[in-house]
Amino acid sequence: MTWDFSTDPEFQAKLDWIKTFVEEEVEPLDVLFPGCEYLPLDDERRAIVDPLKQRVRDQGLWAAHLGPELGGQGFGAVKLTLINEILGRTDWGPIVFGTQAPDTGNAEILARFGTDAQRERYLAPLLAGEVFSCFSMTEPQGGADPGVFTTRAVRDGDDWIITGRKYWSSNAAVASFFIVVAVTDPDVPIHRGASTFLVPAETEGLVIEASHHLFGAHRHEPGHSLVRYESVRVGADALLGVEGGGFEVAQSRLAGGRLHHAMRSIGVAQKAVDMMAERALSRETKGSALADKQLVQAAIADSYTELMPFRLAVLHAAWLIDEYGEHAARTDIAALKVLTPKVLQSIALRAIQIHGGLGTTEQLPLVDMLMTGLALGLADGPTDVHKMNLARRLLKDYEPDDPEWPTQFLGRRLDAARAKYADQVASVPSVPDGPPIRS
Ligand SMILES: Cc1cc2nc3c(=O)[nH]c(=O)nc-3n(C[C@H](O)[C@H](O)[C@H](O)COP(=O)(O)OP(=O)(O)OC[C@H]3O[C@@H](n4cnc5c(N)ncnc54)[C@H](O)[C@@H]3O)c2cc1C
Repeated sequence: MTWDFSTDPEFQAKLDWIKTFVEEEVEPLDVLFPGCEYLPLDDERRAIVDPLKQRVRDQGLWAAHLGPELGGQGFGAVKLTLINEILGRTDWGPIVFGTQAPDTGNAEILARFGTDAQRERYLAPLLAGEVFSCFSMTEPQGGADPGVFTTRAVRDGDDWIITGRKYWSSNAAVASFFIVVAVTDPDVPIHRGASTFLVPAETEGLVIEASHHLFGAHRHEPGHSLVRYESVRVGADALLGVEGGGFEVAQSRLAGGRLHHAMRSIGVAQKAVDMMAERALSRETKGSALADKQLVQAAIADSYTELMPFRLAVLHAAWLIDEYGEHAARTDIAALKVLTPKVLQSIALRAIQIHGGLGTTEQLPLVDMLMTGLALGLADGPTDVHKMNLARRLLKDYEPDDPEWPTQFLGRRLDAARAKYADQVASVPSVPDGPPIRS
């Protein structure tokens, strides 16, 4: 029996190093270069960021989400959680450590489905931290229902011609390549009729019509783009995975990505709790500290009560992946996809309230955390849809029973108990006022 919540001392030393490094070296970048994480490095930023990345590499911590065969560390998901919860406290942390979304998920599918040539062309520079990528699937007319997707890829000789529009293509404005999901066979259901293509950003016909931003986002952020694919011609070698396998590729990307968001969100929520506690102890009103007011205490206690089981649930899902593979964690990841935005929103709202008016300004990162919570309730699919999927998954483990009297109805349990111990129990009381039970 092993069920161990401790961190081995060797890895704890690495976590301690990460924590100090992030606080002292990385967090200053958040205020010096806000919203610039995904911009190509100019000379000034490169002079600071490249040496930091090198220190991460020297510590053997670069691209911690990947296996060693891909230049990562092969830490596994539990250790990655412990790293990502620290990195989640900063905007620049994931970039400096080579673990930023959506590039992590894109790297994973390139590794899983890419040919040698595709890996060399797209994955290698991505892993080197030199380029950014874009996953282009959602369409303007709908994202939650892939059945409404109309972007088509049609064969022309050996080539493919892609035509259509995509929306919410994050980082399109800075990406050097796009992973595009397009319908290749409209006569079968979309989960068998879509394929995935690798399209370099400079390909003729790929036009960024507009880039939209989350409310309050910094003006430098590349945002989420409306992209037009106007008869974009790519070669046969652009197909990622097999024809008709686009949904398998997309799904395999999303499961890991959702858990990575949850890992980083632990750090975001913990930061909000830390800020709440500091403010409550520092600010006085009506003759005593905010921390002495029972409702403020309740806000802090409620926040911890949400954060603590959330963190354990993320670690547990990560442990399932390490022990049994990603498939075994699917239900837990689905539950975490629902829980992550809920926990973030709830804790961020309390932290804003406790900081008073200041909490609502751009001078503190709290509204940003709230926006992250709202966005995570939509990115990678809306909470409502995930709840339904989760319920369907859970219901598979159950069978229907008697429509009138459930198995836990006292009368049924009593009948069963009587039958089992009929020889030993002389008199068993009947159900008070109970309806007649069918035999
Ligand atoms: C920050 C952010 C980043 C994103 N990045 C990317 C990206 O890089 N690439 C990409 O392709 N997409 C990306 N998306 C898009 C995201 O996947 C979609 O927003 C999401 O799938 C929902 O699609 P929609 O916005 O069109 O909402 P709709 O599909 O219009 O759904 C709107 C609402 O309707 C309800 N609803 C929808 N379907 C159902 C249902 N079956 N049952 C009950 N209620 C339902 C839900 O309340 C849902 O929130 C991103 C989104 C955000 C917010």
